[in-house]
Amino acid sequence: MPEAMATTKRKFYKALDSLQNPPATATRPTEPAAKRVRRSTSTTSTVSRNASAPNTNNVKGDGTARPPPNFSPWSHETFLARLKTFSSVSLWHPKPEAISEVEWAKRGWVCVDVNTVACRGGCEKRLVVSLAFAERTSIEQRVDEAGEVHDEQDGVEDDGSAMEDALVERYRALVVDGHADTCLWRKAGCKDDISRLQVVRPTVWQPELRKRYQSLHQICDAIRDVKLKALPHDTTSSLPTERLLADLPADVLGPPGEEQPTPEDSLKALEIALHGWRGSEDSGNELLHCDACFQRVGLWMYQPDYKPAHSSSDDDGGDSATIDLVEMHREHCPWRNAGTQKSAGSLSGLNACYILQRVVSTCAREQRRRSEEQQKGGQVADDDVEQGEEGETPVSPAPSREDVERQDKERESRLKKLKSLFTMKRKSAKPVIATAAR
Ligand SMILES: [Zn+2]
Ligand SMILES: [Zn+2]
Repeated sequence: MPEAMATTKRKFYKALDSLQNPPATATRPTEPAAKRVRRSTSTTSTVSRNASAPNTNNVKGDGTARPPPNFSPWSHETFLARLKTFSSVSLWHPKPEAISEVEWAKRGWVCVDVNTVACRGGCEKRLVVSLAFAERTSIEQRVDEAGEVHDEQDGVEDDGSAMEDALVERYRALVVDGHADTCLWRKAGCKDDISRLQVVRPTVWQPELRKRYQSLHQICDAIRDVKLKALPHDTTSSLPTERLLADLPADVLGPPGEEQPTPEDSLKALEIALHGWRGSEDSGNELLHCDACFQRVGLWMYQPDYKPAHSSSDDDGGDSATIDLVEMHREHCPWRNAGTQKSAGSLSGLNACYILQRVVSTCAREQRRRSEEQQKGGQVADDDVEQGEEGETPVSPAPSREDVERQDKERESRLKKLKSLFTMKRKSAKPVIATAAR
């Protein structure tokens, strides 16, 4: 992502943040170790910094009501509620993985102030977690903080890395030891698979996919012209999105809503929804939103006519304005990260995007097989059908042959229409959903 664009984004999200979170009162860090060290560069990669930049939260800085009880390490819901408190760029700055927001949230901590965590409702301990990252690109922020923190910025650059390693180690211990002796969070935290998303069970993935898909139809004007980079459909186990749209049982995606979306809009909405994003609107700005990592993507920056305010060079080609539907999730997000999805068995090593595509593809194949079976009068035609993971056999009374033939014709023509749209898109210069080759 070009620096200028990243800066513009950061500014916008900062502004958005300050609308939603009145600026935190200037509490000084109380943790001596945090005060002593300042570095002017971050050791986190550009990618992870940028990936974390365009986001904000909609939780009040002082914490909204969270569901009790406080000690509930088994609860995915309360884990997410804690994780969400870390999602404001102005409150929580990116940290190395060992002391990332995920680690704190797994041990019961919430973010309550600038780089400050607390055990709310538990032992009430409070810690400042500061490696004093100063982002080169965010001058205002650096000045702000420099005013507050000691001015040893220049001296520590040389041994900054060693110093940071030591600090990370210290904080890693504090994730556990920072709790009071009697605090239950000191004895146990969430299991490593707490982030896992339920994307296999139809009773979970179907309503959730439908909700995301329909929310994206609400903002179809904003997604119509954006360029997307999707997961490749290059395995035998996942179908191209236009096949899914044509073959999925009608009730999986539900009615399209009041306005009649074009097939192209629906295709795009499904593609985005399959990657875990829902559409939302905030103060007239359309956004993609992830409910697992709380990342937000401002769609206006990806419109073809969007010009970054401080763009100085034009050498970044068109790629900068493509939304990578996987990479835009935060690094720890199970939609992107197979390590936090932690699925077992045949799904191990796959992130939630892959798994959902496989599961949805299986569902679409099943549906197709059923209608083909019905067409052949109950004959089984399964030579080209993969074994379904949650294969249930239909129990509805068989429709008449005419019905089936009519339905099949309709489906074929829908598919053809989608295919022609899709081919047109593929011919256009940019790889829109180019990975969906058959
Ligand atoms: Zn505690
Ligand atoms: Zn995410």
